[in-house]
Amino acid sequence: MLLIGSHVGFKKDSQLLGSLDEALSYNENTFMFYTGAPQNTSRNVLDDSLIERAHNKMKDLGIDSSKVIVHAPYIINLCNENNFDFSVSFLTEEVKRVSALGIKYLVLHPGSHVGIGIDAGIDNIVKGLNIVLDNTKNLDVVILLETMAGKGSEVGSNLEEINRIISLIKDSSRVGVCLDTCHLNDSGYDMSKFDLFLEEFDNIIGIERIGCIHINDSKNSINSHKDRHENIGFGTIGFDNLINIIYNSKLENIPKILETPYVDKKYPPYKYEIEMIRKKEFNKDLIEQIKKQ
Ligand code: FE
Ligand code: FE
Ligand code: ZN
Repeated sequence: MLLIGSHVGFKKDSQLLGSLDEALSYNENTFMFYTGAPQNTSRNVLDDSLIERAHNKMKDLGIDSSKVIVHAPYIINLCNENNFDFSVSFLTEEVKRVSALGIKYLVLHPGSHVGIGIDAGIDNIVKGLNIVLDNTKNLDVVILLETMAGKGSEVGSNLEEINRIISLIKDSSRVGVCLDTCHLNDSGYDMSKFDLFLEEFDNIIGIERIGCIHINDSKNSINSHKDRHENIGFGTIGFDNLINIIYNSKLENIPKILETPYVDKKYPPYKYEIEMIRKKEFNKDLIEQIKKQ
């Protein structure tokens, strides 16, 4: 079964139940959220009864809660010493929060080395992840390293770097990978040849590490190192290539999550994009139609 969802909100009053309801309103059967604002550290106290109600509702609806995703905040940067202690303690707390929410997967950006170089950056992230994994060793939470576009000094913009991080981690049994189609395109991988890419991924990292795929079109050309997401079918990757990735038989049980931009910064496009994806039919007037709603 196709597992498709999008980024949704997480509000103080409704928490996981509200995130689930938002996803359902877009006809999704999975979803991804931040446990608070991605750019700051203020987090609401989790409400156990909302967590329980959300999980009961997922069970009733046949939604597999083990495929729901949390995205760690961007302020975590394990690659550079400047932020290291804060990042380790905040990520530790975040893994505990994800576990308390009954969620298994936490997507993390490897980080930016900010001038110290890729090798030193990788050493730092490995050191940090070792501590976080050790701090949370009894929790069933898997950290998925996201493939990055290679903007600025981002680490993890090619499969070799992701593999180096995973290989250097002491116990990588709770580490996986989140692919992002926009980032892969922007970092130089040709999404029109996805089968070749998957083969390469399998050779370098191992396909079983893939825990989530972010499905985004890109505003920029291949190898641009930009990272600007575009609505499905309206960017340089294109609808057919994205459909080909979404329906790849080797990735059937992997959750596919849209992080495409709101139309006019106001209207969530996900319900309409998912409808197109389910029909496998591109609607070139989609954006105009969403604006008129
Ligand atoms: Fe991300
Ligand atoms: Fe992403
Ligand atoms: Zn991005």
